[in-house]
Amino acid sequence: NTVLEKLLQRRSLQLCDQQLNFQNSADGQKMLNFRKSLPAFKERDALLKVISENQVVVVSGETGCGKTTQLPQYILESEVEACRGAGCSIICTQPRRISAISVSERVAAERGEAIGESVGYKVRLEGVKGRDTRLLFCTTGILLRRLLVDRDLTGVSHVIVDEIHERGMNEDFLLVVLKDLLPRRPNLRLILMSATLNAELFSSYFGGAPMIHIPGFTYPVRSHFLEDILEMTRYRLTKYNQIDDYGVDKKWKMEKQALSKKKSQLASAVEGSLEAANYTDYSSSTQDSLSCWNPDSIGFNLIEQVLCHIVKNERPGAILVFMTGWDDINSLKEQLQTNPLFGDKSKILLLACHGSMASSEQRLIFDKPYEGIRKIVLATNMAETSITINDVVFVVDCGKAKETSYDALNNTPCLLPNWISKAAARQRRGRAGRVQPGECYHLYPRCVFENFDDYQLPELLRTPLQSLCLQIKSLQLGSISDFLSRALQAPDPLAVQNAIDYLKIIGALDEQENLTVLGRHLSMLPVEPKLGKMLILGAIFNCLDPVLTVVAGLSSRDPFLMPFDRKDLAEGAKAQFVARGYSDHLAVIRAYEGWKEAERHRSGHEYCWRNFLSGQTLKGIDSLRKQFFALLKDSGLIGDDAESYNKWSNDEHLTRAIICSGLFPGICSVVNKEKSILLKTVEDGPVLLCMNSANAQESKIPYPWLVFNEKMKVNSVFLRDSTAVSDSVLLLFGGKTSRGGLDGHVKMLDGYLEFFMKSALADMYMTLKEELNDLVLT
Ligand code: ADP
Ligand code: MG
Repeated sequence: NTVLEKLLQRRSLQLCDQQLNFQNSADGQKMLNFRKSLPAFKERDALLKVISENQVVVVSGETGCGKTTQLPQYILESEVEACRGAGCSIICTQPRRISAISVSERVAAERGEAIGESVGYKVRLEGVKGRDTRLLFCTTGILLRRLLVDRDLTGVSHVIVDEIHERGMNEDFLLVVLKDLLPRRPNLRLILMSATLNAELFSSYFGGAPMIHIPGFTYPVRSHFLEDILEMTRYRLTKYNQIDDYGVDKKWKMEKQALSKKKSQLASAVEGSLEAANYTDYSSSTQDSLSCWNPDSIGFNLIEQVLCHIVKNERPGAILVFMTGWDDINSLKEQLQTNPLFGDKSKILLLACHGSMASSEQRLIFDKPYEGIRKIVLATNMAETSITINDVVFVVDCGKAKETSYDALNNTPCLLPNWISKAAARQRRGRAGRVQPGECYHLYPRCVFENFDDYQLPELLRTPLQSLCLQIKSLQLGSISDFLSRALQAPDPLAVQNAIDYLKIIGALDEQENLTVLGRHLSMLPVEPKLGKMLILGAIFNCLDPVLTVVAGLSSRDPFLMPFDRKDLAEGAKAQFVARGYSDHLAVIRAYEGWKEAERHRSGHEYCWRNFLSGQTLKGIDSLRKQFFALLKDSGLIGDDAESYNKWSNDEHLTRAIICSGLFPGICSVVNKEKSILLKTVEDGPVLLCMNSANAQESKIPYPWLVFNEKMKVNSVFLRDSTAVSDSVLLLFGGKTSRGGLDGHVKMLDGYLEFFMKSALADMYMTLKEELNDLVLT
């Protein structure tokens, strides 16, 4: 032991030496001075003292004050100084991949090291970590995965959970786990870091843990709301802007309905305050324009106008545009590139920044462009707190962010653009004041801002809990309900019960709430269970390619375009993909494969144009497919030989069966009548198909069942997408308890299936199926 200690001490000294060498160099001096100029530096000693004396500490401070990059380094430095350096192990979690990577690179650079020396990172599918790595930045998901194999975090000296104010589901979950762990690991230090000031909530959750606030400095930022912007840019909102919807997928009325309550509140707020502000005093054009403003649509054209205004009239400085998602960012980027003002690469550097891009691409956004080039970054809300682009002077804020929301009563999850909170709007504005006074353009009226919620609801309270429940089980944290009731803000027990019931139905949990083999595999894939189940079966049945497309398609918009002035032509084009498939999902596979083939001959664009397909969406599907493939590989479900996983990829029956396995229990019965088709679900009775569904065009569906991914209630219940399946497929590929699930349906069904269910054959099938599951999954 003493030999080991000596060795460790020597490593520590080496680490010290290396640092001293760097700090004495010119670059090192410059860096050191920069670091000392950050607000966090003044609190360095106080921070270290509190951390050494308390097991849990809550640290808050303005974005950019140096929490993420400095605090972990202070701890590392003080441990090294105390000659414990080689023994310490600091883990700092980040909610997103890109921040884990960029922060670790920054910290390594500040220390004059390459990444992988004392500082490393680990995110899903990527990581750099060396023998001497003492400070590891990772995503929250990675730490949760480590807890799977190492419940006590053996050897870890400090856990820093960053950005807790975001209240992401993983972070809230991790806090419960850590709270349970702390008594078992008295030497473990836990530091919680948050941007805004809800530190009390976290402190009281950890029995009154001490709080430290780092006072910060940002330059003032001027806010311009829509009314100011319209005047400034002399831009008129017209009916055209409403067609050019931003952020809302118009096709789906249900989504509109979900928004309509909030929208009508906002609309009346707009009217009210327009009256109150007596807008007749202002130019009437502003008033006309504002009255055309549609709360759930902001035109790309308006954004383009604002950008033009800044580029033409304002001082130099980067522009950061907050948008809601990947597709919108890409569409706007394409639109801007056709404008000569933005297409000129010698004047404008146009970049995108969102979670699903490669990290090498993401890094570009930090670089400062050459003199005379203006950087424009189109970003999702990722750029709100976790990453700091220093040279931003102008912020354009669309006022929305995509958030998952979940209604426990209807048991339907949705990912919708929603109004952000006041806290988020302030945060976005603050991004403009990092290096000099800035300007923020909010693309909504001031009165709408005043109607925003103060804070966003924590994710745990607004998303389905299925994946989380699997995690709880795989970490062996006991009863799901008990565990979740101990969260910072416990979710609705009904939502918890729904999730547990669902997991039992799909066969991920058994009746005693134990993880099944399938459940264990699902818990290792960071996707919704229904998607995970399809991916797993796609891999097992060597039918991977089409399944990857289905899963990617379910996570994207519909690639089929239906412009209403050319609806007949569009429907005609779609019909060739639909032909005899009786499935929206198979239609997407066929369209995607056609496009892929066309791309190989460089005619993808023409193919899309001819077939009324969205090239943008197909590209999105393509990139998602790659991600899902990488996930399967990472979790060991497939090996290197990709070919063999496609042995049965041309078998549409098998694909149909795997779709069924994922979408179950979303199922409805089909009865073909003389002139119509009668569809029924157990919960809703008669249901209808969405106009755009492939099956809506059929006069007869030669299958007894449809499985569907989503239904929506407008006046009647509509199925948005569906795939027809046979009895045997449903029996074999429905959930593990598909018998129970089917019993309800059997009542509505005549003849065959009733007989089938009662026959010995059914039992045989069930046994066969379970054996099959166990065989392939263990
Ligand atoms: P916080 O976590 O408190 O929001 P950070 O520690 O992320 O603050 O950043 C502190 C400062 O370090 C920022 O104000 C910024 O000036 C600088 N910084 C952070 N990341 C980078 C980077 N990748 N490149 C250059 N400077 C950076
Ligand atoms: Mg930070």
